[in-house]
Amino acid sequence: MGNHFCKTKPLWGDTATWKTVNRNFGDLIRLHRPKMDRAVALARDVQIRLESIFSLLDDLCVVTCPWCPDHCCLTAKVWMDFKDLLFLHLNGHQIPPAQLLSNLKETCGYWSPNGCMLPRIVRPWVCTWYLCPTQKANLRQKPKSAQDNFNRVLQAIKAGRKEMESEFIRIVS
Ligand code: SF4
Ligand code: SF4
Repeated sequence: MGNHFCKTKPLWGDTATWKTVNRNFGDLIRLHRPKMDRAVALARDVQIRLESIFSLLDDLCVVTCPWCPDHCCLTAKVWMDFKDLLFLHLNGHQIPPAQLLSNLKETCGYWSPNGCMLPRIVRPWVCTWYLCPTQKANLRQKPKSAQDNFNRVLQAIKAGRKEMESEFIRIVS
């Protein structure tokens, strides 16, 4: 995951707000379910693309993270955003019990010495796309076709997430 710093406060950092936001997502999706097919299909497409790069990400992690002297998750100031939560709700995933951080002084609540406690599919997008310099160097050792495919999939996921969000907002507004 990422050494990606943000200056603002984490979104929905306190438990009550986190619960309310997630209840609202659930209610809106149920209320508009008959018109939600395209948004659900877009969320599924994003999921399929994400799953297609997990083995590469696992390969990169297994040869780098266990020996890392400076775990990026311990200093990352990242959290779930609107698209991350929408993706989880539309795909019917279990929602994590809390935001990653409630304030900028904290360490991600899902970090453990054995790695991230969240399944890859549930992690925020930033935790998936971020590759540290060591992992980037490792990726450059892989065949060009694998690197190109990885970059193409990242772009497609980014575009798919935006489309999913626009479609959802169009339906509920
Ligand atoms: S090797 Fe890279 S991705 Fe893995 S924990 Fe260290 S900084 Fe993070
Ligand atoms: S959710 Fe997982 S991958 Fe992301 S910062 Fe937390 S421990 Fe790291």
